[in-house]
Amino acid sequence: MQLMKKFLLSIDQGTTSTRTVLYDAKFKYVDQAQTEINQFYPKPGYVEHDAEEIWDKTYKTLKKLLKKHDLKPSQIISIGITNQRETILGWNSKTGKPICKAIVWQDRRTSEFCDSLKKMGLESEIKEKTGLLLDPYFSASKLTWLKNRSKTQFLRKTTLFGTIDCYLLWKLTQGKVYATDITNAARTSLFNLSTLDWDQDLIKIFDLQGIKLPEIKKNADNFGTTNLFGGEIKISGMAGDQQAALFGQACFETGQVKSTYGTGCFLILNTGKEILRSDNKLLTTIGYKLNNDVTYALEGSIFVAGSLIQWLRDKMQFITSAPESEKLAKLANNDSEVSIIPSFTGLGAPHWRPELKAAIHGLSLETSREDIILASLEAIAFQTRDLLEAFKNDGAGIKSIKIDGGMANNDLFGQILSDVLSIEIFKPSNIESTSLGAAYLAGIGSDHVKLSELADIWKADKLFKSKKSYEVKYKRYLSRLNSLV
Ligand code: ADP
Repeated sequence: MQLMKKFLLSIDQGTTSTRTVLYDAKFKYVDQAQTEINQFYPKPGYVEHDAEEIWDKTYKTLKKLLKKHDLKPSQIISIGITNQRETILGWNSKTGKPICKAIVWQDRRTSEFCDSLKKMGLESEIKEKTGLLLDPYFSASKLTWLKNRSKTQFLRKTTLFGTIDCYLLWKLTQGKVYATDITNAARTSLFNLSTLDWDQDLIKIFDLQGIKLPEIKKNADNFGTTNLFGGEIKISGMAGDQQAALFGQACFETGQVKSTYGTGCFLILNTGKEILRSDNKLLTTIGYKLNNDVTYALEGSIFVAGSLIQWLRDKMQFITSAPESEKLAKLANNDSEVSIIPSFTGLGAPHWRPELKAAIHGLSLETSREDIILASLEAIAFQTRDLLEAFKNDGAGIKSIKIDGGMANNDLFGQILSDVLSIEIFKPSNIESTSLGAAYLAGIGSDHVKLSELADIWKADKLFKSKKSYEVKYKRYLSRLNSLV
């Protein structure tokens, strides 16, 4: 009987680790294999990954899961891929060898170049075409850096460029398929949101004429097959990590929102068929494309969320594990006036203040570690409120949020979030929305499931409703934030 059972595999290639997750045919989580990946910091502001290592570890996690569960390729309905977005590399199409280390989304080496484009007055054109801000975060300026390093190598016929999804697909299909998906393409700064294709003007602006770029596919599509595991397995789903989470949270209706609280926080609103342009420094992007229908999205990202909890654990040593933050915050003095501005790496949306340092305000001799832990949970909720205000000012009122990521395990945080935002917060039964989203897309792409069936599979595990007002504390945080220079 076991032999007859069918499964889906989801590759979730993140910034700090690579994992493969096994789902049964009804999208119930079965198991996962995970490995950390090395981070390289060759100079201040530089962040790199070794793409060969990423591929090797991805391959091994797939193999390990298949072996552990004694699965034949014929039992795998399909593979879905989701990945860290914006990270870019080039490789040789003959040997498969990367021509360089992958330049990671966090890498700031192209700050000056981006500033020079700003001075040339190009930001509004880039924003209009891409929906993104002009920032080193996105892939295009990183490609310019690669071109400047070696023009000959850059323009060589055998050099291919792509984001991590594209490289993994190329490796899985042994060089047969050179393609990316529309959500990953939309984060490169070379993709035009209106024409839904690579944009020659953008390619010129970033001085990338002659570059080879992959075919852009839908999120549920025929991405080819892999033959590396003793038989053919289809690959039929692909999306960048935050869009995969949007999909995994079944945010299929206009107005639905998911917010992922991992290392950072990424909040994405489904804006339907409409391209909603932000006047408040949010990003306009693709949510997903199925058949010929494109669903757009508005995104806000906060750099520090779970990493604040890690800081409390590793640097302050206030807690020994992340879950302990919940237990201790419950013992805090609720009248404490402590507030934390966790801008360890500057502030992201909607403030975009890269130079700001973190601060703790309102300390007294009464202040305890518990108060600081509570203030940390509140700080992440306050930053989400800042995002929500920006969405509101852009004309997108948010009525409820589905949360996921590591911090979604903290029920006190869920309650604080609901109180601070005065809206309902849903926590799904499977908080691994990212890998689930890729599995859903693979399911659709292989005709295993229909979109209409997926909304019924999604289940809430918990609902947090607003119980008390946080206005005084939020206003105090805001005035302290605004006073920081
Ligand atoms: P990523 O995918 O960015 O690596 P995860 O979604 O795995 O992140 O979440 C890990 C983050 O969540 C860590 O920063 C950790 O501090 C935080 N975290 C995990 N569990 C809890 C918890 N119970 N309470 C607060 N924070 C938590």
